[in-house]
Amino acid sequence: MKDSYLNFANTGFGAKLTSMLGLPQPLVLERYAAGQTKRLTLGQHTVLLGACEGSDILAPLSKTLAAITQNVSAHSSVTGTSTITPWQSGDRVNALVFDATKLQNTSASGSLHEFFNQTVRAVKANGRVILIGRPPADCDTPSMAIAQRALEGLSRSLAKELKKAITVQLIYLHSGAENQLESTLRFLLSSKSSYVSGQVITISKARTTEADGFDWSQPLAGKKVLVTGASQGIGASIVEVMARDGAQLICLDIPQATAALDEVANRVKGRSLSLDLSAKNAAEMLVEQARNDGGWDVIVHNAGITRDKTIANMKPEFWSSVVNVNLSSQERINEALLSSGGLNSGGRIICVSSISGIAGNRGQTNYAFSKAGVIGMVQSLAPILAKNNITINAVTPGFIETKMTAAIPFSIREAGRRLNSMSQGGLPVDVAETIAWFASPASSGLSANVVRVCGQSILGA
Ligand code: NAD
Repeated sequence: MKDSYLNFANTGFGAKLTSMLGLPQPLVLERYAAGQTKRLTLGQHTVLLGACEGSDILAPLSKTLAAITQNVSAHSSVTGTSTITPWQSGDRVNALVFDATKLQNTSASGSLHEFFNQTVRAVKANGRVILIGRPPADCDTPSMAIAQRALEGLSRSLAKELKKAITVQLIYLHSGAENQLESTLRFLLSSKSSYVSGQVITISKARTTEADGFDWSQPLAGKKVLVTGASQGIGASIVEVMARDGAQLICLDIPQATAALDEVANRVKGRSLSLDLSAKNAAEMLVEQARNDGGWDVIVHNAGITRDKTIANMKPEFWSSVVNVNLSSQERINEALLSSGGLNSGGRIICVSSISGIAGNRGQTNYAFSKAGVIGMVQSLAPILAKNNITINAVTPGFIETKMTAAIPFSIREAGRRLNSMSQGGLPVDVAETIAWFASPASSGLSANVVRVCGQSILGA
């Protein structure tokens, strides 16, 4: 649905008026378009690197950044890397990357203040800020765990402070997982993540890394991907983005949506599969299809329904249908595919949850139960699947412009759109790009993550 306020606020008159009245001033977010010529490509971005004293990941970090862009400069806090050009105060940049992995205690936190105090004004519109720390649970001393946990407060507050569509994220990097950074840095530094902000992402060690010469423009080349709920909305966008990235798509939706589903599948030379996921034999049928295809590489559990009512007024079938489609069917399908070898080794499972599952929402006890359960499924299965090199992650969309949100009454819709750091709703493609990042073979270090695609919505923050 068209966001007229966003368009108005981006006209000359609109910008003046909204500023005078102190109203939200959303910026049109820069989004990735394959083959784009006018906008900067990632390789042209300028990145400013800073670090706490004593960092021992500067060599792999600067090598990874150099593989992404040729324009990396070093803040005075970075010592011992004479190969990086020093940053001149006042030089504008597209991104800041600060390595806080050696932050040992809070009394050393002045280096964070110094770096961001000197540099945040240099970040251009649509810029990116990335902090890298160590997972608190992995720290050797309580003092270090406290300092590392404190980074969350800094990153989330920075994300609220920096306007102009600048996003801020915190990466908790497990020791020894430096070789898993590239996929995540590429995603977070690019315009594929423009509606993702204020997030905490954990990168773990993994047995595989992307091979030399990995084609970052076709990361899913040859991969067989099942997307459920693919006939419209977010699902149709996931199909398009993954096809762009080289995947072979199996597009699934209910039999009533066959015409729209065929259209989506034909557009990407994929296959359509009409199947009601709540049917008793759905998992069995999927196992058969996966076997015929020689196993699938990626499963995207996107299909979902809402049947809103306060619990006192909710009929039992409203409860059971939502829990069945949104959660139990995913559990059954995962179990069937995993036990039958229908998901190949190195496979990816990506589940679509919702911020309702984090924050709760009036009239959505059934939906929030199902979406919170999806997060539980991701977190409980991740360590089990790791034995087979399979990852599982969740995306939790906030307010995304789809038919579902177009049906919300005007005042609630406007609140949903504006109550986030971007002061606008996201687009289906924002969710799709996040899913494609998790699906990449280069994302082996990402599992058990729950990443919100919500423009840093204040709900559940
Ligand atoms: P949508 O209603 O446009 O699409 C959902 C799709 O799932 C439909 O095509 C539908 O036919 C399909 N589906 C429903 N039941 C099914 C079943 N039993 N078997 C097979 N397919 C079935 O919704 P959307 O906005 O594109 O949402 C996609 C996902 O994102 C859902 O899981 C939703 O809960 C989640 N989500 C959306 C938003 C948003 O703002 N739009 C926010 C948070 C989460």
